Amino acid sequence: MGGISRYKKQLRLIYHPAYLTPYSTADCESPERVRAIMSRLSSKLNVVQPEPCIEEDILRCHTHSLLSQEQGSPDRYEAARLAAGGAIRAARETLEGFVGFGVLRPPGHHASPDHNWGFCFFNNMGIAIKKLLHDKLIESAVILDIDLHYGDGTEAIFRAYRNVRVLNIQSSQPGDFLRETRSALGAVASADIIGISAGFDQYEHDWGGNLSTEDYRTIGHIAGAFARERAGGKIFGILEGGYYLPDLGKNLEALLGGICEGKSGVA
Ligand SMILES: [Zn+2]
Repeated sequence: MGGISRYKKQLRLIYHPAYLTPYSTADCESPERVRAIMSRLSSKLNVVQPEPCIEEDILRCHTHSLLSQEQGSPDRYEAARLAAGGAIRAARETLEGFVGFGVLRPPGHHASPDHNWGFCFFNNMGIAIKKLLHDKLIESAVILDIDLHYGDGTEAIFRAYRNVRVLNIQSSQPGDFLRETRSALGAVASADIIGISAGFDQYEHDWGGNLSTEDYRTIGHIAGAFARERAGGKIFGILEGGYYLPDLGKNLEALLGGICEGKSGVA
């Protein structure tokens, strides 16, 4: 076995201790979420600390009015900037040959250009992909959203983009969920990178009551195979939802293990 540490050389967790800082949000979106993940994974994998994103990064996805609204809650604004910075760093690590994963909060996929909800403030995934596009590091992307809730914000941000495909997997049965993931990715010819908006609230003991830990491994296999065959091996992920604390780390470990298992050059 050996678990996830056998992929230590190719994986990078993106995490900042300030992700534990309290700010005004719903009780369930607590610092314990990232603490639970890091207590399982931080000793097994390399961890890098991100920088906060800058206003220019936010304004590629959001309006000035949403930005000023969030700047009105300074503690939350700083947390949201650091989460978006973590997503950018996860994507960047991937361009350097690693699989990057941002263990970050607040989540982002319900943040649209001009409004936000669902514990989300800025769209972390959108900000990361738009930064790579702006910096001409990629020309196209696929975003795979496996959260229980529909990633309406990400969809709204990229609605007019032909070069960014947003795939929201919504089936409520495990077999269907995996089939839908395969067929949605199967319909994409190629992309320069794939980003996973990894919510774990579809888990069988979480709100969705659907996927098992092994299903997360299978999703990792499917996404990892897509990356290798059609995205130049470039794959990263970030945390979205997921509220069943005892197994959050285990499910992320399964997803990451699934992504890496098919990769060549595994030590
Ligand atoms: Zn969710």
